[in-house]
Amino acid sequence: MGYCYLCEKECTETYFSYFCSKCRRIKHLINLYEEDVYNTLECVLVRDKKQQQHKIKTMDVKSVEKVKTRSQTKIIDEVD
Ligand SMILES: [Zn+2]
Repeated sequence: MGYCYLCEKECTETYFSYFCSKCRRIKHLINLYEEDVYNTLECVLVRDKKQQQHKIKTMDVKSVEKVKTRSQTKIIDEVD
């Protein structure tokens, strides 16, 4: 079997197929949703540097807030 024509990493499902199972699913989704798939990829996954920094800051704030939850504070108080 050869490599998938889309990802070029995984092996194809059968000798005569062009795609691996994941990429065949992607192709199916593209056939179903057409432009929505492209728009979603561009709007959600493709980000410039500024957008990446915003996302990183957002993730940092979430991780800090996660440490300061009440239940975690209670657990820390009970241990002390
Ligand atoms: Zn693939």
